[in-house]
Amino acid sequence: MHKPPSTGSVSSASPADLAALRLVHYPHPVLRRRAAEVTVFDDRLAALCARMFELMDEERGIGLAAPQVGVSLRIFVTDHAKREQGAPPSRRIWINPVIENPQGETVYEEGCLSFPGIYAKVRRFDRFTIRWQDLDGEEHRESLDVSAGQFLGIVVQHELDHLDGILFVDHLNPLQLRLVRRKLRELEDAYRRATGTAGCPIRR
Ligand SMILES: [Zn+2]
Repeated sequence: MHKPPSTGSVSSASPADLAALRLVHYPHPVLRRRAAEVTVFDDRLAALCARMFELMDEERGIGLAAPQVGVSLRIFVTDHAKREQGAPPSRRIWINPVIENPQGETVYEEGCLSFPGIYAKVRRFDRFTIRWQDLDGEEHRESLDVSAGQFLGIVVQHELDHLDGILFVDHLNPLQLRLVRRKLRELEDAYRRATGTAGCPIRR
């Protein structure tokens, strides 16, 4: 009899499994799934977040969502001050986040750890309120204003998209998409070579 494969959720992942987590790249299908709400706030959840920070730091990222490590849960971590030299650490964990009352519009050049080497300008909301839970399940609420200098507002919109299976390239217009098409194909080819399957490539 064979042991069934792990499902990749926190509840089924032992600490040893968490250490084995790796970043997944486009067009891995987990990046297209709507992630599930977190309902259990236990030590394994904290261990998952610690592992996500490790992986984000290895790649010098400023945000990482759980689906990007193959775990389909509504969690992301951020460290938005990393890009400012000498800034204090700003590590934050966002569980079951929801954006409310979005207003205005702003454009920012974004990249994504699931799309190495691809950058593009993306249109986002300028101001909104976000509510989320911490590792203890406590609820929090904060207003963010990108044009007032709160770059974190861009990061959380990008990461929250990941929890709904939305990727930053989905926001690009046809011309922008054409400019990154060759790099997208390279990622699609690499995924096919590694897995023998096509995954979920963009169909437009
Ligand atoms: Zn991303």
